[in-house]
Amino acid sequence: MKLFDVYPINDINIVRAKDSYLWDENGVQYLDMYGGHAVISIGHTHPHWVKRIEEQLNRIAFYSNSIKIPIQQELAEKLGKISGKNNFQLFLCNSGAEANENALKLASFHTGRKKIIAFTKAFHGITSLAVAATDNAAIIAPVNETDNVIFLPYNDEQALKKCFQKHGGEIAAVIIEAVQGVGGIAIADEFFLQAIRKLCDEHNSLFIADEVQCGYGRTGKFFCLDHAKVDADIYTMAKGMGNGFPIGGILIAPQIKSNHGMLGTTFGGNHLACAAALAVLEIIEKDDLIEKAKELGQYLMTKLKKFDGLQNIRGKGLMIGFDVADELKDLRKQLLQKHVFTGEAKPNVIRLLPPLSISRKQLDEFIGIMNEAIEELSPHPLKENFERVE
Ligand code: PMP
Repeated sequence: MKLFDVYPINDINIVRAKDSYLWDENGVQYLDMYGGHAVISIGHTHPHWVKRIEEQLNRIAFYSNSIKIPIQQELAEKLGKISGKNNFQLFLCNSGAEANENALKLASFHTGRKKIIAFTKAFHGITSLAVAATDNAAIIAPVNETDNVIFLPYNDEQALKKCFQKHGGEIAAVIIEAVQGVGGIAIADEFFLQAIRKLCDEHNSLFIADEVQCGYGRTGKFFCLDHAKVDADIYTMAKGMGNGFPIGGILIAPQIKSNHGMLGTTFGGNHLACAAALAVLEIIEKDDLIEKAKELGQYLMTKLKKFDGLQNIRGKGLMIGFDVADELKDLRKQLLQKHVFTGEAKPNVIRLLPPLSISRKQLDEFIGIMNEAIEELSPHPLKENFERVE
């Protein structure tokens, strides 16, 4: 049987991983500045994570949500403590799209309304309503098309106000990534996020923060929205939550009431996934990874700014992007040839999403390799004050 061919694939077979490194079948070592698409938070195969999963696996991996699963409550408590959203409620699922799907559905149940505001270049997943709220016509199947989603320009407060004036009583929710990932590391202005909060309050709509990529400590706060000092009504989470073990979830504000059957899942919140997620939070806390993400992000941005040919270097914590000049359009390929994984966003953005546990030394290693790659592609790669890092 053939695999259904939906991914452009690099001809690399990774067979082993540790911290921020990966090794292929020939023993070639790669530096992971992509974190498997912002998924690796505490580092590949972290021993505490492996141990916790192993121990849980030997006890019980799965039973259905028809029984008490105390490890879910343990996870909820830890998550409440580390995120600071202790008064929120937790619903567990398996992926980012599923988290957004549930968030949007819940907002519609709660408000009794149908319309969703999303933003240009948003990415919320590829399932039915999540993909309808994703600004990419190419991945929306005819059956997913709906006029319930209104797309507005990102960071345009006037457009948002006008839309609420016109449709206020119909808006169930506004969904936004505080830093757009797939959209190319676009950062929402704090005043814009505050305006969303205010308008949602005025019109009894819900604020959904899609923190699937920008959340879980990556930007130097537990939730990226925390930088703007406002709360969402629903936070969606996935990627970094399990460090590669599939788990997603939503945090739900206390005023949103549940009833049986409203949301549900077979696999969500299984014992094994909760053990993986608890291990992640324990390491985030013990190693102070959120603060480290902030410091290391600043360090990396300062270093990147010394390269000519990299434009609009932007980011928060370890979620960083830059545009590459035309002469460096093959930079990402060149980096891969030098055994560094990075991310991209069309047309010319390189995205850096390394494990939050990466070290300064590994970032220096990356900068050294960037320097070589740029030198090979362009004759005048460095600004005067650049100190070469070997
Ligand atoms: N939201 C955002 C912001 C994402 O970046 C992604 C994945 N790239 C998703 C949702 C969907 O997550 P998943 O692939 O786990 O369904």
